[in-house]
Amino acid sequence: MPALNDSHPFRARRRRARVRLPLAFSLCAALLLGTPALAPAAPVHTVVGPAALAAGPVPATVNPLPSLAPVFAAGSTAVLVNKSHPLNPLRYAPSDLVNVRGSGYYLRAEAAGALNSLFNAASSAGQGLTVVSGYRSYDTQAALYDYYVRTYGQAYADTISAKPGYSEHQTGLAVDIGNAGGSCGLSTCFGDTPAGRWVAANAYRYGFIVRYPNGYSSTTGYSYEPWHLRYIGPTIAADMRARSFPTLEHYFAGNPASGASIKSGSDLLAVDSAGHLLLYTAPQSGSYRYRTTIGGGWSNLKQGFVVDWNADGVYDILAQWKNGVLALYRGRAGGGFDGLRSVGWGWADMTITVGKLSRSAMYPGVLGYRPDGVLRYYANSTGGALGGFVSMGPGWAGRGITLADWNNDGNNDVLAQLPGGALLYYRGNGAGGIAYPSTIGGGWQVMTSVAPAYGYAGLGTRGLLARRTDGTLNYYGFRSGSWIPPRPAGSGWGPMKLFR
Ligand SMILES: [Zn+2]
Repeated sequence: MPALNDSHPFRARRRRARVRLPLAFSLCAALLLGTPALAPAAPVHTVVGPAALAAGPVPATVNPLPSLAPVFAAGSTAVLVNKSHPLNPLRYAPSDLVNVRGSGYYLRAEAAGALNSLFNAASSAGQGLTVVSGYRSYDTQAALYDYYVRTYGQAYADTISAKPGYSEHQTGLAVDIGNAGGSCGLSTCFGDTPAGRWVAANAYRYGFIVRYPNGYSSTTGYSYEPWHLRYIGPTIAADMRARSFPTLEHYFAGNPASGASIKSGSDLLAVDSAGHLLLYTAPQSGSYRYRTTIGGGWSNLKQGFVVDWNADGVYDILAQWKNGVLALYRGRAGGGFDGLRSVGWGWADMTITVGKLSRSAMYPGVLGYRPDGVLRYYANSTGGALGGFVSMGPGWAGRGITLADWNNDGNNDVLAQLPGGALLYYRGNGAGGIAYPSTIGGGWQVMTSVAPAYGYAGLGTRGLLARRTDGTLNYYGFRSGSWIPPRPAGSGWGPMKLFR
């Protein structure tokens, strides 16, 4: 449970953010949203045809968007290295290489330790593995690449070998493995051996991915290599698996939201007392320093949400207006938002949150209750207007509700704040159902806003941004079903309406 009574020293981030933004940054700001048109209108369906759905990767998962931009720091375990992104510097050499299991091959210490755990687990499962290759220096890779070019010609060499400076093996995070018998060493048949299948199914538990999966050569630039594992850390490896990203390129560089106004699941939208809609971009370091004003006339907002409503990879704004209109403002890939589309009305007395309850759902729906306290889930089956609802039981009146993946199984769970301050966790089964609750916190009656935040404390991180009655904002991170120590995220947020 978060240490709610601790007082954390912090600086008034918001005051600093009031400093006028440099012109260049202002120019990057989104198109201003107009004054919302509040007259209930006929719903406008945003029909996404089957062709459009097939064209791009649409992970059937709860949190489909990448958390952050790609990482290019050579020393990061999350570094992206491929044919268009060499290491920087080109002759980068890690400083913490260790001999892996006495194999004579080297990996960075963290990756070596993780590979050791993977090998031990494989062994316990009856699968013998062997290390075939590990770290390769720039000079070693240069010699290897030259050999392949001389032997096969450059065109073919480029599909099986990297130029020096462009190889993941130079990071000290990539390892080639084989089955202990050695019959399929560096051969695609490794993927069909029991050992290869075990590795493909379990590597993520130890922070590894099969970096060049079958069928994605056009994305990765490499043929299928079931033997080439890349260490990216257990957090991202699990995140990629839970959200069905097939390659690191999909996870990072395929981010279609890079030019959009809201880029990250940890960006924060807020409405101030004058009705300005403000966008705070969250840097990886975890504080809200910069803001842009992206709209006006938002004083009659009941609750706002940041969500990829139509699953096009760009965050949208869902606004619940006090007059009961539920309005969608679709984010544009190049920045800015479309005008209001009503996706529902009669929502004035609803307490709601937004997200997926089912892994097979294409679009996030709405979970909420009326004053009668009956929890209902409204599916969003078209990426446009909401359809009917499923009743999920009574007794929810007065509760704060949040959808977040508390136990890190890839399914959204329901977190409920009781009026007395207890925070309950209802495990989601990924098929629209939730289990009986358990208590995961107390003292939450002082929280006046609770929102899930993805990527706030770094790649793949999950947590809640919670505002207390005194206007301070704190980040409560969690891992698989347990809290990590909270950190302050600024003060002076009391008068703001925070989006979720
Ligand atoms: Zn390799």
